[in-house]
Amino acid sequence: MTNSTVLAYAIDLLSVLLLALGLKGLSKVRSARSANGLAALAMGLAVAGLLIQQQLSLEAWIWIAVGTAVGGLAGLLTAQRVPMTAMPETVALFNGCGGMASLLVAVAVALYQSDTTGLVEQVSIIISVFVGAITFTGSVVAMGKLQGWIGTPGWTQSQVRHGVNIALAVAALVGAFGLPANPSGFPLWLLVGASSLLGIGVTLPIGGADMPVVISLLNSYSGVAAAAAGFVVGSQLLIVAGAMVGAAGLILTQVMCKAMNRSLVSVLFGGALGGATQVGGGGEEAGYTRITSCSAEECAMALETAERVVFVPGYGLAVAQAQHTLRELSKLLEANGTEVSYAIHPVAGRMPGHMNVLLAEADVPYEQLLEMDTINPEFPRTDVVIVLGANDVVNPDAKSDPNSPLYGMPVLEVDQARQVFVVKRSLGAGYAGIKNALFELPQTAMVFGDAKAVLNGLVSELREMGVGKKAA
Ligand code: NAP
Repeated sequence: MTNSTVLAYAIDLLSVLLLALGLKGLSKVRSARSANGLAALAMGLAVAGLLIQQQLSLEAWIWIAVGTAVGGLAGLLTAQRVPMTAMPETVALFNGCGGMASLLVAVAVALYQSDTTGLVEQVSIIISVFVGAITFTGSVVAMGKLQGWIGTPGWTQSQVRHGVNIALAVAALVGAFGLPANPSGFPLWLLVGASSLLGIGVTLPIGGADMPVVISLLNSYSGVAAAAAGFVVGSQLLIVAGAMVGAAGLILTQVMCKAMNRSLVSVLFGGALGGATQVGGGGEEAGYTRITSCSAEECAMALETAERVVFVPGYGLAVAQAQHTLRELSKLLEANGTEVSYAIHPVAGRMPGHMNVLLAEADVPYEQLLEMDTINPEFPRTDVVIVLGANDVVNPDAKSDPNSPLYGMPVLEVDQARQVFVVKRSLGAGYAGIKNALFELPQTAMVFGDAKAVLNGLVSELREMGVGKKAA
């Protein structure tokens, strides 16, 4: 073993350790940011380790430098410009890039090193091409659907789609069986083509509402494709990293399905049923009869005297970009001696961790963000709950009405609090497109308006009441 090989192995080992630590850190809000840094460092080291092992020509170095510069710049610009509400689309795009990379690596090995590959490599090439292609095209479709660029064609909602997908899967299988005998010929292209179309075929029927779950699943697939690519090129690091991503994505998919009260089978094969198409609509038609509404002034008066206040952020808070105003309001209340916390539902918003990221952006202290299981027993001793652009995640029907589509979904039990103010623009429905029993409870009052405008109003009212001055 040469010195450079030993060094490369040591770097690989360090990268794997850092990656594992990074993944572990991502499970806690407090450590997520630094964990992300660790994972990025692991990735950088992994690339360095790989390059050290190769005897590269000047021309190869130039290609690598140019590719790194172009890819790095594209990543940097994307990360800087993408708004928080468009994060699921961005993640979909990045997953797609991962799938495409594994696909290209496997195709390149099949085309140029076919004579040197054994059984393990051949099976790995097949898996890498199959899963990589599905991940790539599936992710592009998922991104297009979330952006509103791609709709759901009518035929994909009928049984025809199952026939089409089965035919594509069979074609991919034929390509896979033919590949060992003719690795760089027709079977390879049949496998690439059929798998790519299959990625489109399985993602196209799924409604935008379920898309974040699909994206999480595609994330897992990109890990599987990368692990298979690791076998293809003989990289232990890629195998380990791919397996970690694959497992983490699968666990996240399962957590999301549970929190949304959906089974993975119904997400993947149930078509575009479910709510996204109805977001924000249908409330008035839903026939609310006992709604109490109030002004920001009345809400501010309740806040002024409250000893314990819980904010429940939801998708509408992200849409209104009101996180900084919310922080300003909490600071005023805290200065007034109020105990403030934030109740975080696992699927509030449109992607896992959406609310945590949003509130972290406004420097909300991590210890004030309380997970559903922690905050639920606290609601009965809470004076005021302010629901900000959240809907489904606080719907009490999920606990009490067996006929509700949400029945069984774990929710934030805000109906147990003494007083609830719901801030939203109308009586429109949330993501699930259904009526919310919370709005008609006697302890609930609606404060209609854009979340940011209402929060600004509350801050002004409290200042007028002298809350800020008392604090100073
Ligand atoms: P939601 O049920 O979609 O409700 C959001 C509410 O925000 C709407 O009722 C809307 O009412 C209000 N809103 C929109 N813009 C607003 C603005 N500018 N100011 C104030 N309010 C505004 O949201 P959620 O309670 O956060 O629940 C999330 C839903 O998404 C769940 O059903 C969950 O299953 C689903 N989901 C989440 C994920 C995830 O990973 N987090 C993934 C997939 C699906 P108005 O139009 O009346 O204002």
